[in-house]
Amino acid sequence: MHRIISLQEDLFYNKDISLRKPSRIIEKEEISQSWMLNLISEMFKILYSTPNGIGLAAPQIGVHIKLIVLDLKRDAKKPLILINPQYKELSSEQTISNETCLSIPKYSGQVFRYDLIKVNYYNLKGESIDEEFDTFLSHCMQHEIDHLDGILYVDKLVINTSLVTGQTKQDKLVNKAIEVLKL
Ligand code: ZN
Repeated sequence: MHRIISLQEDLFYNKDISLRKPSRIIEKEEISQSWMLNLISEMFKILYSTPNGIGLAAPQIGVHIKLIVLDLKRDAKKPLILINPQYKELSSEQTISNETCLSIPKYSGQVFRYDLIKVNYYNLKGESIDEEFDTFLSHCMQHEIDHLDGILYVDKLVINTSLVTGQTKQDKLVNKAIEVLKL
């Protein structure tokens, strides 16, 4: 069983850690191998067991292959996996995206992301797909694809902004529970 590698603040910019290692391409024949399906299942399980995670890249659990799972609504209605994603086109427009990362708990920060991207990837059936993604999904995907190259959003903060640290959803719930108990 794998688990999410999360960083303490002193390691955010350390280049020697596992999260900074580039991931390798997945061979086409590996896609149909049972370990791949097991790994993908495990990644979704890990994603759904987080309080609000919507995307996970394999290197975040210490597996350095080009594999991403996403589920923006976390309801398993539109799960997405990307094997060997590659940008085909990037829009000229970029907007500020306010990001968090499962590997950097309790922090958020602003980065620029392309609004529209065209990506080539393999799906679970081993088919090569060219697909366009926009808005929030596009931003999330760029965040996850960065993980495959050992890049973290903290590397790309908008100039003159800094990381913001705040409470997690669980911290907020704990505080609320204590408040209710004190009433
Ligand atoms: Zn992340």
